Amino acid sequence: MRQKITQISPHAQTNFQEIIADLEKLYGRPEPPKLTNPLEMILRENVAYLVDDERREKAFQALKQRVGVKPQQVLAAPDELLFAIAKIGILPEQRVEKLRRIATIAIKHFQGDLHTILLQPLKDAKKLLQKFPSIGEPGAEKILLFSWSHPILALESNGLRVLLRLGFGEEKKNYAASYKSAQAAVQPQCKKECDWLIRAHQLLRQHGQELCKRARPQCEACPLAKGCAYYQRQH
Ligand code: SF4
Repeated sequence: MRQKITQISPHAQTNFQEIIADLEKLYGRPEPPKLTNPLEMILRENVAYLVDDERREKAFQALKQRVGVKPQQVLAAPDELLFAIAKIGILPEQRVEKLRRIATIAIKHFQGDLHTILLQPLKDAKKLLQKFPSIGEPGAEKILLFSWSHPILALESNGLRVLLRLGFGEEKKNYAASYKSAQAAVQPQCKKECDWLIRAHQLLRQHGQELCKRARPQCEACPLAKGCAYYQRQH
């Protein structure tokens, strides 16, 4: 159950670790991620298009149980079976092609085992992960964080919006530049621990989905309002 704003002591939100602590008081401590295997994370990202978390998980579990998540199993599966699973989202034909492409890349470049990527320095590891479909720099960073291999604050779109509104970094002309700006602003205040960074990622995402929504953020219920640049501009 969410706590009311009055139960959280208000203070200037200049300290990122305090922000994460306040979000944890509001939403509770997130469960550790179930998935830490890099290939499985890539398959889950690609198995269904434009679906919510629940349907994505449903599609991924169907892939796991009916096909398997080894590259050889994905390549050996009949088109009809992959199509039936990908139909949980839209454009299933494209998803089937992407699943097969992932399996091919995994075998051709990494002998079917992506764990070797995790041992590379951050810059190289990100580049290698971006060989896979639908994996840009933020997605690569999330894989490296959630596999506990590189302590970097990966952000998805909800978390990025929250940080920019709070006043970390600036909105730039494109998503990649805004992402880098917010990440650079917050990075010096981050703990260099994967479990803390994973929780920060999860809490920022949840905050962006529940209160700090894209349209009409619910600032009156937000414990971060006092130190939020966006809120200050509106009042
Ligand atoms: S005060 Fe409003 S804009 Fe600022 S973080 Fe909270 S919900 Fe988002």
